[in-house]
Amino acid sequence: MTGTVYLVGSGPGDPELLTVKATRLLEAADVVLHDKLPGPEILSSIPEGKREDVGKRAGGERTPQSETNARLVELAEDGNDVVRLKGGDPFVFGRGGEEMLYLAEHGVDFEVVPGVTSPVAAPAAADIPVTHRDHASSVSFVTGHEDPGKDESAVDWGALADTGGTIVVLMGVGKLPEYTAALRDAGMDAETPVALVEKGTRPGQQVATGTLATIVAARDKAGISPPAITVIGGVAGLWDGVEGEP
Ligand code: SAH
Repeated sequence: MTGTVYLVGSGPGDPELLTVKATRLLEAADVVLHDKLPGPEILSSIPEGKREDVGKRAGGERTPQSETNARLVELAEDGNDVVRLKGGDPFVFGRGGEEMLYLAEHGVDFEVVPGVTSPVAAPAAADIPVTHRDHASSVSFVTGHEDPGKDESAVDWGALADTGGTIVVLMGVGKLPEYTAALRDAGMDAETPVALVEKGTRPGQQVATGTLATIVAARDKAGISPPAITVIGGVAGLWDGVEGEP
């Protein structure tokens, strides 16, 4: 009997933000394949004997996606029910789509279990709503870490600046100087509020705020490091001048 692979979102890291379904499937699984993003609070609750870390190999490089895909098929074909646990939601910048197609092509049964996604949850945990009637009626999720193999223009920062909505950048700590400059070059006001939320919903949660002109210095002063979310737009400055500001 071939097992089933569940592509499960773990949410942003707070174990209480795991879904009821994710919790049930983690308990029932024979094997849980994961990387580091779900975070230690969630990973430590899974018995070590059924965990397999596919995030990093010895030497620090990433496990190639092809190896993870092959491992999922192999485990299912051996009759295991497998949870492929992914941070946030499995289909938001998580390669969940690639894994699903590979499973389908190899005739393995699968189910996708949505998770609480960090570009919404990390700002919310820092009291930043990604939309607000007075500030933003749209929100864009963008990668700040373009595949080096792609053209430089893979993300059209000028077009994003023109939406007037909130821009939420994932994987965007390192290239913050480049894309904040690109947005300013595209005509976005240098005073536009920006917030960085590191480890949203987790014990080490840290927030740095500034503007398109000052956020790089604020990042360095606060020592913000990945995983972090960048929120760009009026919503990031909602608390400016409000009494009781967090
Ligand atoms: N599938 C995930 C995103 C994977 S990409 C999701 O839906 O949330 C990895 C990026 O997610 C990180 O670089 C960071 O930008 C973001 N991220 C994930 N968890 C986070 C958290 N708890 N706080 C801040 N950012 C987080």
